[in-house]
Amino acid sequence: MNIGVDKDTGWNFDNSYINLPESFYSRQEPDPVQRPNLVILNKPLASFLGLKEKKLQSGAGIDILAGNEIPEGAAFISQAYAGHQFGYFTMLGDGRAVLIGEQITPQKKRFDIQLKGSGRTPYSRGDDGRAALGPMLREYIISEALFNLGIPTTRSLAVVTTGESIIRERRLPGAVLTRVAKSHIRVGTFEFASAYEDIEQLQALADYTLKRHFPNIGNSKDRYLLFLREVIKLQAKLIARWQMVGFIHGVMNTDNMAISGESIDFGPCAFMDVYDPETVFSSIDRRGRYSYENQPKIAKWNLARFAETLLPLIHDDKEQSLNLANSELAKFDHIYDDYWINGMGSKLGIFNIESDDINIINKLLILMHKYGADYTNTFKALTMGQFTNIELFISTEFDKWHDKWRMRLSRQEQTPEESMRLMKKNNPAVIPRNHRVEDALEAAVDEGDYSVMERLLNILSDPYAYTKDQDEYSILPPPSTCPYKTFCGT
Ligand code: AMP
Ligand code: MG
Repeated sequence: MNIGVDKDTGWNFDNSYINLPESFYSRQEPDPVQRPNLVILNKPLASFLGLKEKKLQSGAGIDILAGNEIPEGAAFISQAYAGHQFGYFTMLGDGRAVLIGEQITPQKKRFDIQLKGSGRTPYSRGDDGRAALGPMLREYIISEALFNLGIPTTRSLAVVTTGESIIRERRLPGAVLTRVAKSHIRVGTFEFASAYEDIEQLQALADYTLKRHFPNIGNSKDRYLLFLREVIKLQAKLIARWQMVGFIHGVMNTDNMAISGESIDFGPCAFMDVYDPETVFSSIDRRGRYSYENQPKIAKWNLARFAETLLPLIHDDKEQSLNLANSELAKFDHIYDDYWINGMGSKLGIFNIESDDINIINKLLILMHKYGADYTNTFKALTMGQFTNIELFISTEFDKWHDKWRMRLSRQEQTPEESMRLMKKNNPAVIPRNHRVEDALEAAVDEGDYSVMERLLNILSDPYAYTKDQDEYSILPPPSTCPYKTFCGT
């Protein structure tokens, strides 16, 4: 392994995580791969990070994205964490990922650069530390789609195929994804620190996270309570944003919840087509723990696990600490509801929410469910005032609802044009439809044809554009592809 390559690319690392106690990470170099081949590069993201696209595409650049070379100043660590998976506590850690460093962008922002699928680490347990091409491309598509929808998320800089195959249910081409995140500190990282019952380590992690993500909180004595408050707010907002676009994460384990408030770890996630609150896509989620309607409840459950880890820091008196944390957690519902109702109001062109608006919103959702209407396309139709011949729109119940909604809009001072503009900004014309994502992955994985994925990414690059060529991507899947299931851990 060579150290000290390729300054010209723009890698500019300043690694702060390694200043934490050593239990939080392991030094870990990625395992080199046989024949790295760059199959997709996120050029706008590269430029945002201060990286030169041409250099990344060169042999030396690709070697770094594959984990075959380590750029100067890299940290190369795997992070330790724990987590509640489907409700049960486990010790975990980056079993197939290496943080190569914290990139300081030209705007002086700090981002983790992580290689996912880069080989075994001390946290791999029995697994191979590798990732398959399909799931890495899937993470690329979904994370970039969320980003373009304006939803906080980790992002994807590149996918490199390894030239090696990995064994899952069958042989699959291996790949490495370069993930970019505000940080990879998770609720599970705090659970890890808490499990050691070493208050100094816990405090070191909390102070580090405060400094990195919440510098405005400062050094006051009540900083850990304020920290909890801010994390609750960020998560309430994030989940409300997911709900508004019909996004289902699929595995909201506490190790997949980032303290920064970004969406992270896209395994069996998907966007809902037909509106059904009980929708579950993940093949391993047999009881529907992580269904669409459960996401806010699960977020609150995860935040309770987070709050528990902070109890020794919040107050010296155990009881007081518990009361203080509980009073913060109790605010979650209100904060979430507030984001959600205002957001849903915007989707209906309502500028200032009034008390009866919740009934208008809920009634629409009930009708969508009853008539099996597509979530995204219903809001698109309302935005454009163009109603196709589907069951929902031809029902008398919808007619009645529509009259009530129009009356409500006519009572606000904003013009219908202003309402429509608000709706356009909040109702995507396209989402990454599952069958489109599958088509893109199939072409790439089975035929090495990346053009389908590139077209899809292009269509998704401005989901609120309402262009003609987006229409084709709003078409629903043929009935045979339902019910859609996705698989994780691959
Ligand atoms: P995930 O379901 O992707 O959130 O992963 C849960 C845990 O399993 C994390 O600690 C991962 O690092 C680990 N993991 C997933 N796939 C692999 C793999 N192929 N090799 C080693 N560890 C893995
Ligand atoms: Mg994970």
